[in-house]
Amino acid sequence: MDDKAITLQVRLTQTVPIALDVQLQCGKGEMLALTGPSGSGKTTVLRCIAGLHRAANGMVKCNDQVWQDRQGKTFIGAQQRRVGLVFQQYALFPHLNVLQNVAIALSHVKGQDKKTKAMHWLSLTNMSGMHDKRPAQLSGGQRQRVALARALAREPDVLLLDEPFSAVDQLTREKLYRELALIRSNLNIPMILVTHDMLEVQQLADSLCLIHHGKTLQSGSINDVMRKPETARIARLLGHKNIYTANLNANKQLHVLGTRIDIHQQTALGTGPVSVLIEPSAIIMHRNDRPSNGERENPLSTQVNEMVAMGEDWLLKLDVLGTNEQISFRVSRHVAARNNIETNGKLKVSILSEGIHLMPAAQATSPLP
Ligand code: ADP
Ligand code: MG
Repeated sequence: MDDKAITLQVRLTQTVPIALDVQLQCGKGEMLALTGPSGSGKTTVLRCIAGLHRAANGMVKCNDQVWQDRQGKTFIGAQQRRVGLVFQQYALFPHLNVLQNVAIALSHVKGQDKKTKAMHWLSLTNMSGMHDKRPAQLSGGQRQRVALARALAREPDVLLLDEPFSAVDQLTREKLYRELALIRSNLNIPMILVTHDMLEVQQLADSLCLIHHGKTLQSGSINDVMRKPETARIARLLGHKNIYTANLNANKQLHVLGTRIDIHQQTALGTGPVSVLIEPSAIIMHRNDRPSNGERENPLSTQVNEMVAMGEDWLLKLDVLGTNEQISFRVSRHVAARNNIETNGKLKVSILSEGIHLMPAAQATSPLP
């Protein structure tokens, strides 16, 4: 069988206790990011996959096993599903030490092998030296490493990670990203990572499923979903900032941000009002130390409205002069310093036509979130 073949297939529909209309699939060795606002049903979806919640109508298939069928005949309980789960809160047993917390997941292993195996999983998550500590003696990051070791110790067919990094500090989080990336390269099972951190999605996941109010809005590869959201609402939910209402004329010229931009890409949209997403990579700053590639294309005059520090970068909010619109983009601090970027200063940017994505005009009846 093809290694990348779809291994986990999930379809869930129900109306109570919360409405669900979710479809997702994940292949071997694939990390799927399940994302959406708080309360959109992400944890409920994981619980359905783990067998902790039974959706009124659903199909959950893993490898060739049916865990739940649509006819309502089959429902395999959580204990019988080989699922590794890591929660946002560590969920370790406080009265057991680290080794015992992992060994508890090794019910399928007998005797002395149990300890050997538990130590193996702890070494994989860089926790070997800590095996006799209690959870209370560990940092947040260390507890999540133990939780991951315990999830892996079941030798699961599916790994489910529910916002595993949200309770640890930024520095630890980045360490955990690297460790998870290393571990996952040896895991040939479907993995689902619940997160609303789009940076995390881009660093760790291969594919993305966006849900909102319990409904799948769009899914696919990270690149496709991030660059080609189907609607302005989806673009906003994905964290995109530069979304505008614009007008497309019969000559495939887009009137946006007070200028006209020639659109070269194919579009199924007719002339008239459209929604527009400008990708961050399509915004080019004109530099005063040397010309930037592409700066002749669609130049705009702006004024810096706001500068917010984001790690090594500034997040700039620019007022586009002559319009009521703004553009956001990131620039590294050293480039900003070299180009004397400051609040209220003037700045020229260019918009590359190839980084413009057109979507249907937002409906007045469905306001943006
Ligand atoms: P997310 O993980 O995306 O934040 P959840 O799946 O935890 O969302 O929850 C979605 C919504 O369903 C929330 O409003 C939550 O309060 C509600 N909810 C979750 N489980 C139940 C339940 N068993 N009964 C009633 N409401 C629930
Ligand atoms: Mg949740």
